[in-house]
Amino acid sequence: MVKIQLHGEEESVTINAMIDSEATEHFIDREVCNKHGIKMIKAKNPRVIYLADGKPSAMGPVTHMTKVPMDISSHRELATFQVANHQNHEVILGIPWLREHNPTIDWNDKRITFNSERCTTWCLNSSPIAYAVPEDKALEENLITRFSKVQAKKGPTTKSGPMASDQSVRGKKLSAKARVPMKGTARAAGHDLYANEGTDVPARGQAIVGTGIAIGLPHDTDGRIAPRSSLAVKHRLMTNAGVIDSDYRGEVKVVLANLGDQP
Ligand SMILES: [Zn+2]
Repeated sequence: MVKIQLHGEEESVTINAMIDSEATEHFIDREVCNKHGIKMIKAKNPRVIYLADGKPSAMGPVTHMTKVPMDISSHRELATFQVANHQNHEVILGIPWLREHNPTIDWNDKRITFNSERCTTWCLNSSPIAYAVPEDKALEENLITRFSKVQAKKGPTTKSGPMASDQSVRGKKLSAKARVPMKGTARAAGHDLYANEGTDVPARGQAIVGTGIAIGLPHDTDGRIAPRSSLAVKHRLMTNAGVIDSDYRGEVKVVLANLGDQP
C-alpha cells in the first residue's frame, strides 16, 4: 500500500491507499470524504459495481464521484474517485491509475518510481520515488485515522469492542524456543521469520522449515513470505509458496528452495 495525501477543501488527510491491479476504477470511502471535507459530486446515473465473479459488490451502488488533489510523496495529480462504502480500504487506486502514470514498482524493495514521461512532465515536484507501506502497518494507520476525532461513531460491536479493532496482527509461540518475528530495521518492509529447527536444504532441492509461530491476520488480508535478499544472494535460498490466508491459524512454515550447488 502507499501513503497518499488528499487535499480536501478545509483540511488535508494522510491515508494509505491500496494499489489494486484488479480494480477497474478508483474508489474512495464515503466516510473519508465526509470527514475531511472532500466535496462529492452527484453522478448522473447511480450504478452498481460488479465484482470479477459477476456478483454485485457489497459496497453498494455508486451515486457520487469526487475530484481531489492527491500527493504521493512529491507526485501530485488531480485524482478522480468513485465514492463507495468500503469495508476494507479507504482508497483504492486501480488499473486506470497504473496505466496513466505507469510507475515502476519494485515489489522487493517496496519502491514506486514515477519515471514515465507524463509524470516527469506533469506530476513531479522533486523526487520520483515513493516507498510502499507494508499492508499490516498501513491498515493499522488507516484505522487510527478513521477513528481519530470521530469518537462517538457507533459501529457493530463484539464482546471485545468495535469490530474494526480486530484488524491487528496477532502472533502466538507454538514452542518455547520459537523466536518472535522481528523487523531487522525500523524501516524494514516486513518482519524476519526465524527457523524453529535446524534443517538442511539439499543442493538443487527444497525443504519445509517450521517457524514455531502461528499468526492471526485481520479478516480479508493475507500474509506474504518473501525471500531475504541476503539469503538469496549469499546462499541462493529462495522461498516458494508464500501466502498466509487470514483464517490460517496453524504453524507458519516456509518452503525454502536451494538453487545453489551447496546443501
Ligand atoms: Zn504521474
